[in-house]
Amino acid sequence: MKINILGCYAATPRSFTNPTSQVLEILNNHFLIDCGEGTQVQLRRNKIKFSKIKHIFISHLHGDHFYGLVGLVSTFRLLNRETELHIYGPKGIKEIITLQLKLANSWTNFPLIFHELTSKEPELILENSTVTVTTIPLKHRVYTNGFLFKEKEGDRKLLIDKAETYNIDFSLFKSLKKGKDVMSEDGKLIPNHLVTADPPPPKSYAYCSDTVFDPEIVPLIKKATVLYHESTFLEDKADLAQPTKHSTAKQAATIAKLAEVEKLILGHYSTRYADIELFRIEASTIFPDIILADDGKEIIVE
Ligand SMILES: [Zn+2]
Ligand SMILES: [Zn+2]
Repeated sequence: MKINILGCYAATPRSFTNPTSQVLEILNNHFLIDCGEGTQVQLRRNKIKFSKIKHIFISHLHGDHFYGLVGLVSTFRLLNRETELHIYGPKGIKEIITLQLKLANSWTNFPLIFHELTSKEPELILENSTVTVTTIPLKHRVYTNGFLFKEKEGDRKLLIDKAETYNIDFSLFKSLKKGKDVMSEDGKLIPNHLVTADPPPPKSYAYCSDTVFDPEIVPLIKKATVLYHESTFLEDKADLAQPTKHSTAKQAATIAKLAEVEKLILGHYSTRYADIELFRIEASTIFPDIILADDGKEIIVE
């Protein structure tokens, strides 16, 4: 699993910072999560092929999370894209994007498929052979969802030398990987566990931006491999976090601790702070395994 941070700062883009966007690579799926202004430039800078992106997830309709979307869709059109593009986001996103394309007389030639979200309960919005994606309803100033990306459990690991020792024909290897017991060539029943090992545990990525401190999300993200949680402020501005419905680094760490996740990525920093290291220092008092998001950072999770 790999996370490419394209942008991770709140509010206005600056010459050296970008608003929120990231690419999650999970079992050969490439998911674009949020699409702040300048995302297509950041995709190019980070050498991520446009054609790999088939699904875009937009958390909410604040500009720092989707103002790059129409530009990206428009560039896909100029590049003669033919493959489908699925966009998941709050109700209204279809109207906003299609109005701009319509008035520019720039309809896409490729299928543009919107999945508008309205539910306040978690819902499964994508499932394929390797992963599922479920919404994480968040509390922010407008309708907002985080997203939980989960690997499905893979096939069992075949122990070839054991399979040979037990005299199993290779045509049965597929059944072994699926967990079935098989017959050896000399007619003995071979229990599956003798010739296979457990697959690696499935990984998961919980993306939560933007949100006020809300322990109600904890059961939804329990034991996630990696949690990205916004930390717009430090505790010195906790009085601003509540009315603007954002979180502090300490609050993000508290959610990580309650949810017993393995790692916490912090981001969505207010541009008022000159040194993002302060976020790590504050969060580390609550939760040990902190990664600071930064534009252009590649986070590999083994
Ligand atoms: Zn934001
Ligand atoms: Zn917001």
